[in-house]
Amino acid sequence: MAMLNDPSGGPGMHIDMSNAVDMKCEKCEWKTFKNTHLIKTISALVSPSGKDMIIPIPVFACEKCGHVNNEFLKNEFEE
Ligand SMILES: [Zn+2]
Repeated sequence: MAMLNDPSGGPGMHIDMSNAVDMKCEKCEWKTFKNTHLIKTISALVSPSGKDMIIPIPVFACEKCGHVNNEFLKNEFEE
């Protein structure tokens, strides 16, 4: 899923919000999310820099139960 950063959709793009659906938490169906981070670590063996790396990944977590939907997770590092 592509992330829409500009709610207006940018020039020449019209989003009909009546077609937009609320994303819900997979676990509790809550509809609001907070910004948080996954922290990935890469060992020196496979790191491009040859050193252990810590990589924070911004994700959205359910505000009620803290669950991070799979949809947000699989968005990262997609090749
Ligand atoms: Zn939840």
